[in-house]
Amino acid sequence: MSIAKCRRMWGLAGAQFTIPPMGAERPEPFTFVCPPILIEHEKGLVLFDTGCHPNIMNDIVGYWGDFWQMIAVKFAPEETLDRQIKGLGYKLDDVRYVILSHLHMDHTGGMALFPNAKFLVGSNEIRFAYWADPQQRQFFVMGDLLPTRGFNWLEVDQDYDLFGDGSLQMLKTPGHTPGECTLLVTLPSRRFVLTGDTVHTRQDLAEEKPMMIDYDPAMAVQSLKRLKQLRDQHNATIWIPHDIDDWHDMPHAPAAIE
Ligand SMILES: [Zn+2]
Repeated sequence: MSIAKCRRMWGLAGAQFTIPPMGAERPEPFTFVCPPILIEHEKGLVLFDTGCHPNIMNDIVGYWGDFWQMIAVKFAPEETLDRQIKGLGYKLDDVRYVILSHLHMDHTGGMALFPNAKFLVGSNEIRFAYWADPQQRQFFVMGDLLPTRGFNWLEVDQDYDLFGDGSLQMLKTPGHTPGECTLLVTLPSRRFVLTGDTVHTRQDLAEEKPMMIDYDPAMAVQSLKRLKQLRDQHNATIWIPHDIDDWHDMPHAPAAIE
């Protein structure tokens, strides 16, 4: 793996949620986490997803809307994105690129912290976020999106090699949303497939099961199969950011993965 130009990667803590049982689809309470992932490339810092806005610590309904009154939140002030990046010894402006797996509100809460970064997102995602299909409207939060309208956005309509060195590849895995993307990261000693919400749990990956709120479930299953192909092709580890077992199995900041 001598081409690797990424030096290290950190999983950053974020909000943890528990949703009550949802009929036959999820008969048990479901707990998930929302870690942003920071990567140090030799050309600068790259952030994959930005977690949740700190406003939800005390007033999730006020910030995300009535739909979310059924969810329990654990999110501590020391787990905010800015405090963690600064805790690693960086300034927020050191983040040169922000890659969004998609624009659901548990991924967009920290976007406004990086007005000088270049933002990358899959094609058709931005328009959909501002005027989503009715069953997805509760997953996009204007409080996160509107402050970024003047930012430097690039919509990626095919697989995209960020630095042209193969070390950070943004790969199209649509279905959960129109622009959902996965990030393939090559570190000095191992590779990761960071799935975003292309899949939500290890069990769903094993069963190749889409999520009930996916924008296009058939497309989501094709993308889920692509994750496994990427894993096998690149001898990579799949990291499902929302999966709490994956979170517990990975080192967290300040510990880095190299
Ligand atoms: Zn999502």
